[in-house]
Amino acid sequence: SSRQLKNAIGSQEFQVTTYARPDDLLITRGKGSILYDDLHNKKFVDFTAGIAVTSLGHSNESVSKILCDQSKKLVHSSNLYYNAECLELSKKIVEKTKALGGQHDCSKVFLCSTGTEANEAALKFAKKHGSLLGPKKHGIVAFENSFHGRTMGALSVTSNPKYRTPFGDLVPGTSFLNIQDELSVLSNFIKSKKDEIAGLIVEPVQGEGGVFPIPAEKLIGLKQICTENDVVVIHDEIQCGMGRTGKLWAHAYLPKEAHPDIFSAAKALGNGFPIAATMVNEKINNALQVGDHGTTYGGNPLGAAVGCYVMDTIGDEKFLQDVVRKGSAVQESLKKLWDLYPQHITNLRGQGLMIGLEFAEAPKELIKKCRDSGLLIITAGKSTVRFVPPLTITDEEIQEGLSIFEKAVKEV
Ligand code: PLP
Repeated sequence: SSRQLKNAIGSQEFQVTTYARPDDLLITRGKGSILYDDLHNKKFVDFTAGIAVTSLGHSNESVSKILCDQSKKLVHSSNLYYNAECLELSKKIVEKTKALGGQHDCSKVFLCSTGTEANEAALKFAKKHGSLLGPKKHGIVAFENSFHGRTMGALSVTSNPKYRTPFGDLVPGTSFLNIQDELSVLSNFIKSKKDEIAGLIVEPVQGEGGVFPIPAEKLIGLKQICTENDVVVIHDEIQCGMGRTGKLWAHAYLPKEAHPDIFSAAKALGNGFPIAATMVNEKINNALQVGDHGTTYGGNPLGAAVGCYVMDTIGDEKFLQDVVRKGSAVQESLKKLWDLYPQHITNLRGQGLMIGLEFAEAPKELIKKCRDSGLLIITAGKSTVRFVPPLTITDEEIQEGLSIFEKAVKEV
C-alpha cells in the first residue's frame, strides 16, 4: 500500500551510510527494461540493469517461475551433498563455453554467491597453485584502474585508493601495473619477479574503472609471458562476461592461446539471484585438495536452477548476435552525439552492450537530469557515463532512453 511505501522511504536512517542514493526514489517494480517507482508515480527506462545484472530483464517470467517451482522442491542442502541443479549448471557452463569459443580447458567449476567471492576463490586457487611451485610464489599482479570487489582479498587487487586506504593493511603481495605500459615493461616485471608471482588478474573490459576494453595484443602478450613464467592468468568476467560484450565471454574474442587459466563470473548469471562461479583448468584443479576452499550457499539449487536458464538463453548464437547489433546501434547514436558536442564529450568506448561515453567533466548533473526525465543511467570511473542496459532491451526502449539522454546532454 502507499502507506507502506511512505514508511519505507522514511526509514533510510536504519541503513549504514555506504551508498549515495537519491532520497526521492523508491524502486517498487520492474518489467523488462523498465523500472517503476509507485510511490512517486514514476517510470524509468533502465540503462543500468542493476549494474549489468538483470540481463534478461526485470521480473523475467521464466526466471520467476523457475524460482517459484524450485523453492517448492529444494532451496538448500549445503555442499555436504550433490544437488542436481548445481551439477547441471557446472556442466552447462563448461559445455556452453566450449561451444561458443571460450576457454575449453576451464572444465572445472566452483559455485559461490557473489562476484567478489568468485574472485576470492580465483586468487586462492592461483596462490595454491603457486605455493606448490615455490615457497614465495603467492604474489598477484593486478592493474591500475581495476575493480575486483570489496572483500579483503578482492580489495587487495582493486586499485582505487579511495576503496583501499581507509582499511589499513590488506592481503600483501599485490603489484599494480599500468596496462597502458609497453608489453616489454610488463613482461620484464613479471620475468624479474617470477619466483614471487602466482597469478595475474585482469578485467578484459575494465568496467568500474571507466569501460576500457583491453587491446587484444596486450592480453595475448600477457598470457604468453605468464605461461612462460608459471603465472596463472585470471580473467575477471564478472561484468563483461555472460554475453555483455556480444560473446558469451569477453575472452572468446581472443585467440585460444590467450584464454585465461581461471575466469570468474557473477552478476548476470543469476539475473539478480545471487550466484557466481569460478572456472579453472585441470592444472589449477590438480593443485586443489578437499578443504582448500568452500562456502555454505555456493551452488544452492535456487541460484543454480536460474543459472541454467540464463546460460541456455544467453549462450545462444542468435541472442549474442542481437547484442552486437543493438550495441552497434547505441554506439552509432552516441557517436553522432559526440560529433554534436565535442567540447563536452571526449571519448566513446565499448563492446556489445557495455559502452562508455567519456565527458570532459564528471557528469553528475547529467545523470540527475536523466533521472528526472525518466532514464536511469550510471557512471564509471571519474567522468564516463556507462550504458549497460538489459541485453533483452527492445529497439524502441533503446530509442526512448537515448532520446532522454540526448535531450539531457543538450540541456546541461
Ligand atoms: N569484478 C568486477 C569486474 C565487477 O564489476 C564487480 C562488481 O561490480 C565485482 C568484481 C564484484 O562483484 P560483487 O559486487 O558481486 O561482489
